[in-house]
Amino acid sequence: MTQVTSGLPELTLETCHHCGELVPVGAFCGNCGAHLAEPGAGARRRLHAYAAAPHEPVLRPLLISTLFPHLPHRHTHLFRDMLLGGIVLVAILCAVRVFAAATVAAAVLLPILYLLYLFEVEVYEREPLLVVLTTFVAGAALGVGFALVTQHFAVATLHPRPDTVLVQGVLFPVIAQLLMLAGPLLLLGRPRFDETLDGLTFGAASALGFTMAAIVAGSWHTLTAPLVGSGVAIDDALRLLQRAVFGAAVNAGSTAVITSALWLRRSGRRRGWHGAIWRELPVLVGLAFAVQILLGILSQVITDQLGVVVAWGIGAGVMLVALRVVVHHALLDEGAEHEIGQPSACAECHRLVPTMLFCPACGAARSAAPKRALIAGGTSATSPSGATG
Ligand SMILES: [Zn+2]
Ligand SMILES: [Zn+2]
Repeated sequence: MTQVTSGLPELTLETCHHCGELVPVGAFCGNCGAHLAEPGAGARRRLHAYAAAPHEPVLRPLLISTLFPHLPHRHTHLFRDMLLGGIVLVAILCAVRVFAAATVAAAVLLPILYLLYLFEVEVYEREPLLVVLTTFVAGAALGVGFALVTQHFAVATLHPRPDTVLVQGVLFPVIAQLLMLAGPLLLLGRPRFDETLDGLTFGAASALGFTMAAIVAGSWHTLTAPLVGSGVAIDDALRLLQRAVFGAAVNAGSTAVITSALWLRRSGRRRGWHGAIWRELPVLVGLAFAVQILLGILSQVITDQLGVVVAWGIGAGVMLVALRVVVHHALLDEGAEHEIGQPSACAECHRLVPTMLFCPACGAARSAAPKRALIAGGTSATSPSGATG
């Protein structure tokens, strides 16, 4: 261990046995993010501490911390409560058979949370916010077009036929996935938005805009019908839950898993410590399209609405976990030169720690912090070799 005093408050350093660098003593390595308290390969991958939200494990299908990675821990429960409140509201509107209001409330639920999140974390101020909103609006415009065109060709059959399964279960999901990717791809290669989490944000924004618009445009006959409808309320509630929550999560997950991997590949800042064939772009593109097609086919062949909801719920869980695994390893892999910066408060755990790629106390990736924390942390840094003299 080494004592460092020049320019910084007294800092005790130790050599990380994963990356070999001199780093401040703590639970996590500030340079490579490995868990220092335990030895072995598992500590390097630290699957018990998600890099964007270290209080949560990686392999868990959690919607808020996956799609809203910049959100600090103390705000997670607020967004989760708003999501649950929205679902309850939709259920109540279905129960009293106000289907038009229920449809609109369900369609805008996740998009509104997403826009609140973007304003809350201030990651995309002014012009960049415009870029995110443009991705969202472009996704929404394509969603309207998709819903109107597919509605024209869609055939409602009581029993699945091979031709309708092929068109509605395979062709439509593939076209939808390609359209959700179109907006974000226009932003690929922009030097200001070249981090993995930028790719995730653009992909999720486009997919949520697309899903919202497709639900509203696809339900236009319901929205313009008399205010209070008739029929089986529980089936309508299940259909809305499937499309607006699970469907939106599947779309955001499948689109963001592709854009995150694409952005990581383009950034050129990979350190090569966390590469794996099955997390490479071609495999993830295959996974995203396979899940979309499988769910498309199941929606055609399963005649029970509850069965369709369960299928989409499982699909959403799979895509969210896949996205978490990809982003977790990307955050651990993505990094510039090893630096130990001035002390600043960690946005996640609030402890005063040296500014590094990862918080030495809680292990949160600094690139997943909200904007205000990034500014407060500053970018000036002292190299450890200079500090130790
Ligand atoms: Zn390390
Ligand atoms: Zn921390």
